[in-house]
Amino acid sequence: MNLLKTTFYDEFACIGAECPLTCCGGWMIAMEEKTLKDYRMMGGEIGRFARKGVTYNSDLQSYIVRLRDTDGMCPMLNEDQLCEIVLNKGNKKLCRTCAIFPRETVRSYDTDEKYIFLGCPKAAHLLFEVSGKITFMFERDPDLDMEDIPIYNHVMKINLTVRGEITDFIQKSELPLWFREFYGAYTIEKMSSQIAEQDFEAVGEKLEHFFKPSFYQAMYQGIKNTKVNREQQFQSLCGTVNAYEKIILGSMFSDKSGTSDKILQLLHLNRTCTFDEWNHAREEWTAQENEQQWENMLVYNWMRSAFTPQKNRKLLKNYLACVLCNLVAAHLLILYSMKHEADAEIRNVIVAFVVRRFLHGNEEIMKIMQLGMDEGVLSPAFLICLCNLWG
Ligand code: SF4
Repeated sequence: MNLLKTTFYDEFACIGAECPLTCCGGWMIAMEEKTLKDYRMMGGEIGRFARKGVTYNSDLQSYIVRLRDTDGMCPMLNEDQLCEIVLNKGNKKLCRTCAIFPRETVRSYDTDEKYIFLGCPKAAHLLFEVSGKITFMFERDPDLDMEDIPIYNHVMKINLTVRGEITDFIQKSELPLWFREFYGAYTIEKMSSQIAEQDFEAVGEKLEHFFKPSFYQAMYQGIKNTKVNREQQFQSLCGTVNAYEKIILGSMFSDKSGTSDKILQLLHLNRTCTFDEWNHAREEWTAQENEQQWENMLVYNWMRSAFTPQKNRKLLKNYLACVLCNLVAAHLLILYSMKHEADAEIRNVIVAFVVRRFLHGNEEIMKIMQLGMDEGVLSPAFLICLCNLWG
């Protein structure tokens, strides 16, 4: 297989006990049968864990770790936030989920794309360390035998082409990021019937039309000059965050650094703060933020998630989820900056928290997004209202 990965892929190393948002809880941890059997043979604490703390989920057809009722963490995590399996048996004995996370491989036809999921604060740290535009390295496999891989079908061909065009557009820094965020959704929506019909030729024509500079420049000028009510936009943003609140709260767990408590407080502030308070904080926050880094976050999440093979996820929903990650994380950070200093560490942890909820196969989030789309409250047009609030 050919290989595609970001420049920072090989730099990743878990920070273990130092992590402010450990991945050892708060969500589903699947375990393969072979490892489970090994653990059962071990006896002692690990054997007990394997017999009592792992159950079979017939819907998912997988063994799942039963998280502690008290704090939502894996029973093998000790008070110092260290894994007893690693401490007693070493890294090599970890189950597959724990051994690879947050590394992920997405197969795109003849290429294995390697990502470090941004739901990990260390991964967010590496992404925000990138100076300038994010790039991906491509290595061609000289021994690749095309007979070994499935036919390059129309769905894959369309997905890859659309993803590539949108990615290039997001990186056009001569336009403000809010417009690029919106325009990606607008173009995908306008091509949705051709994409669904797998009409590659028609999609190609549409892409050529939409990504002609004269077309998107004219649209940008038109939207830019439209009068807007910022306070109303702010209310829409708070309402959008509210719509996802239950899902976000549903995943709360008690982590060492109190990240969940901080998020809880921010969600409360989202319901109570006024536009003037928020706007003042936004001005200060945006003045010290680097838009390039938020562009990189959108590009990275989009590359990784564009055609994530989750149930009911399609290009448009995947794109909207990536834009929502940018918007919700930035909004929570602005709220945070109203009370405390929002440094790089808190940015990384909030980004990781939001990305986990929006991009990790959470079908509930997808259902809410679908509801919003059906009711017209989550649409490309609505994105203008949310995105250009940032100025
Ligand atoms: S979230 Fe990342 S840094 Fe934190 S414990 Fe998991 S892999 Fe390590």
